[in-house]
This record gives sequence, structure tokens and C-alpha cells, in this order.
Amino acid sequence: MSAVARDSVTGDPQASELLDLVRPELRAFAGYASARREASGGEVMLNANENPWPVAGDARGLNRYPQPQPEALLQRLATLYGVPSVNLLVGRGSDEAIDLVVRALCRAGQDAVLIAPPTFGMYAVAATVQGAALRSAPLCAEQDFALDVDALLAAVDASVRVVFVCSPNNPTGAQLPIAGIERLARELAGRALLVVDEAYAEFASGPSALALIARYPGLAVLRTLSKAYGLAGARIGSLIADPTLIGVLRSIMAPYPLPTPSVDAALAALSPAAVQLARSRVALLCEERSRLAQGLASLPGVRKVYPSDANFLLVRFADAAAVYRRTIAAGIVLRDPSRQPGLEGCLRISIGTPDENDRLLALLASTSPPATAEATS
Ligand SMILES: *Cc1c(COP(=O)(O)O)cnc(C)c1O
Repeated sequence: MSAVARDSVTGDPQASELLDLVRPELRAFAGYASARREASGGEVMLNANENPWPVAGDARGLNRYPQPQPEALLQRLATLYGVPSVNLLVGRGSDEAIDLVVRALCRAGQDAVLIAPPTFGMYAVAATVQGAALRSAPLCAEQDFALDVDALLAAVDASVRVVFVCSPNNPTGAQLPIAGIERLARELAGRALLVVDEAYAEFASGPSALALIARYPGLAVLRTLSKAYGLAGARIGSLIADPTLIGVLRSIMAPYPLPTPSVDAALAALSPAAVQLARSRVALLCEERSRLAQGLASLPGVRKVYPSDANFLLVRFADAAAVYRRTIAAGIVLRDPSRQPGLEGCLRISIGTPDENDRLLALLASTSPPATAEATS
């Protein structure tokens, strides 16, 4: 793959600028030459030490190694996201792409990752695992966690190789204005890779950063089938970026990252009928998000329901610990992000089915106000 990476660099100053951000020892690294990558499509496959017989009951050929990046899946995802398939890397969830980007760009003990907290925890995990420093430019808590583009840019020094922004942001919920993202892409060009994590883009009303990819080679966008497409268990996520970066990441990626059953599940989930169903469910979840937000806002123990463009709500409670205990005792599990700075007293609530949301609202209504109830329990 590095051959591809270098070919696409030839005579392309933007691509070589991008390659300058990659760890020097990986710029021309070819990675593992797997049998499936070297040759496929023959009739008698004696090159991969596979077992020639499928296991009992297997109709899909699980005795064979899968394609590293199955063409049919690339095509469907390219259509779904409206990008050329050469811009796609498909991995084991977008979590894998986050890890690959940090490993490819950050030299351990030297380089840094910049984030805008409170945000998704995997950016910090990937930085720690790679031995990269973690820098932060916090979101503006007083302004519903708006992105402070100036503060983020001011935090970029020569050691920062990757800047992660999450839009809509997990766990705060708001989508970041596209103008701010474009300004970041413009000003970071040649200095650091900007990764916009759009795991929740399907639930948002504003435009996706995907439209900017062609103009900014230093911009990468993460999408996933885990949320809107109901496929968290299959682990299929995409990084959309310049082909130069895709080539580098493929060279350090596991040789067979996508299990055949997951690829089959993704292809099924991306059939026209399945996509239509997924879109109607997203619409229902967005309606439920408004209904749940209104219901929660009317409860006395609720201080604030933050605006959300995702399939969850961030809610600040008078006594979040009590609410958490009440709900878990009733078998309803919420996410407690309250240890992150700025999120004291907050819980994150995923939007469920209408029945599930009703159960939550009924429980919280019956236990409000929590102060006296807690004192006796
Ligand atoms: C859920 C989530 C992901 C993880 O997606 P996978 O594709 O399941 O790995 C990535 N980013 C954010 C912000 C998320 O909330």
C-alpha cells in the first residue's frame, strides 16, 4: 500500500505536506504483505494456508481469509457518504481509525494530540497507548459547550500532530458550526491533521464536514454504522480522508481487519430498503429526543437539558448521583460522565424506544423531588 501512497504523492505538494505529518519510519512502510492482498480471484487457492473445506453449516466460506477492504462494501459506503471510494478506510469501528491515526502520526514521547473536552474518551486512550502527550482546549461550558476555535488554534504548537473535534460532540450533544470546522481545517493545513468525528452526524440537522474533504487534504472525517445504522455489534466504521493518509493507515492496519460476518451484516444494513428503514428510525429517535427533552425539562430535579443533535441528551440534575441510583435500581442504565471537568451533576441519556423513554420519564416523575426520598432510602 505504501506504493500507492507514494504514487499519489508524486507531483502533489498537498499530499507530500500531509505525508510530512506521518512518523518518518512509516512514510514508506509497506506493512505485511498478506496472501489475500497479493492475489485473489483464482480458482484453486493454495496461497494462504487456509483449510480447503468450510466448517459444517457454513455457507459463506469462513474457511477463507476475507478481503482486507471488500470492494462491495467500499462501494456502498462511498455511495452512502457521497465520497469516492479511494477516500475510504473501513475498520473495526471508528475506534480503530482513531487508534490508527494516532499511531501513524505521533512519535512516542515527542508528539501530542489535541482535544476539546469534555469529549469522547477514546482520543485520550489512543494518545496514552501510543505514548503521545494529550493537550486540551476546553469547550465553553457557559455557552452550551460551544467550540472555542481561537483557543484550540492557540493550543497548537509544533508537537501537536492530530487535533480531534467531535461533532455532534459526545457527551454534550451539540453539533459544531461548519464555519468553525472549516476555519480549523484551513489554519491547521500542513501543521496537524484535523479529525472530525461524526459518529452522530445522521441525527444532526447541520451540514457534514464531508463536503470539505476534497478541499482540505489535512482533514479526515470519521463515520460509523454503530449508531444510526444499528450495527454497533458488527464493528464497522470509516475514516474518510486523502488517499495518501488512507494508504499509510492501511500499511499499519491488521492484515484482515474485517470479519466476513461483519461485512455481510454491513452489506445487508446498506441495502436500499434497510437504509430507508434506518432513516425512518433516525427520524423517530429525533422526535423522541424532543419529547424526552421536554419531559425532562419539566421535572423539578432537572437543572438543564442541553440542546442535542445526537441520539442522546446531556442533562444536569440537582442530584445526579441520586437519579443514577434510582434508575439503576429500576433496571434503567444511564451513563455517568460527571467526573469530567464541566460535567458535574450531569448524566447522559441515550434515546430509546418510545416505551423505554416513557418508562424513564415515569420513574423520574415519581421520584421527584429526590432530596427527601433519598434521605429515607
Ligand atoms: C460511539 C462513538 C464512536 C465509536 O464508534 P465505533 O464505530 O462503534 O467504534 C466514535 N466516536 C464517538 C464520538 C462515539 O460516540
